[in-house]
Amino acid sequence: MNDNSDKLPPEAANSNIWAPWRIEYIQSLAGDDDDCFLCRYRDEPSKDSENLLLWRGRECFAVMNRFPYTGGHMLVAPLEHVAGLEDLTGSAMCEMMEMVRDLQSALTGAIGAHGFNVGMNIGRCAGAGLPGHLHLHVVPRWNGDTNFMSVLGDIRVIPQALTRLYEQLQEVSTELELPKLS
Ligand SMILES: [Zn+2]
Repeated sequence: MNDNSDKLPPEAANSNIWAPWRIEYIQSLAGDDDDCFLCRYRDEPSKDSENLLLWRGRECFAVMNRFPYTGGHMLVAPLEHVAGLEDLTGSAMCEMMEMVRDLQSALTGAIGAHGFNVGMNIGRCAGAGLPGHLHLHVVPRWNGDTNFMSVLGDIRVIPQALTRLYEQLQEVSTELELPKLS
């Protein structure tokens, strides 16, 4: 092994920085593999508010994670149900990253995020809760949040808070004219 993990200070080694990816596996234990909620949301444009779907692009969309690791945890997914990056067109990949970029602006504007974890789990063994439909996580972080943000605590986010945050993100999106897709 050629990593530096044993050289990290204890607080860094114990940091929950990777938990955003683990939570997906926990959620998947309760889920039904055949029911792809991303495809369902994609096909229900009249229910975008209910589904907390924030942005629809030409090839991708951005939706709030109902089981957020931190407040404002978003998912960006291609419209097409594809499992791997190799199945994505270059333009879809580009649009996903543009949405990631613009979500950072929206989340900074709406809830003052200080930083972000951005990443994806590809395949069940890597912790993907929905291995058939590729998606990127955008997880807002705040200075010092590792001390009190626990995985179990965040599962119990009250629905009203999600709806309110969705409205705030919509307002900021209108104000900043987001997303700015090429
Ligand atoms: Zn799907």
